[in-house]
Amino acid sequence: MTDAELSACPFCAFTDVRAGLSTEDGDYAVECPNCLCEGPMAADPETSRQLWQRRVQTQSTSWLDHAQVGRDEFRGMSRGT
Ligand SMILES: [Zn+2]
Repeated sequence: MTDAELSACPFCAFTDVRAGLSTEDGDYAVECPNCLCEGPMAADPETSRQLWQRRVQTQSTSWLDHAQVGRDEFRGMSRGT
């Protein structure tokens, strides 16, 4: 999977999301450069993309209506809470 194949950001519908280093510890996560939300962390970029896809696809189908949901909530979801 490449960054170009990633689903659009579930919060702002920005399509140019990409996997990148998220922490200095070497964890990767897909980030939306538009609203700065961040997907689940993973040990490598490919896994972070798969987790992003899984997270986006398990959102409500009306996720576009929830674009105002903050990044903190998305981070919370990534921890499974
Ligand atoms: Zn976004």
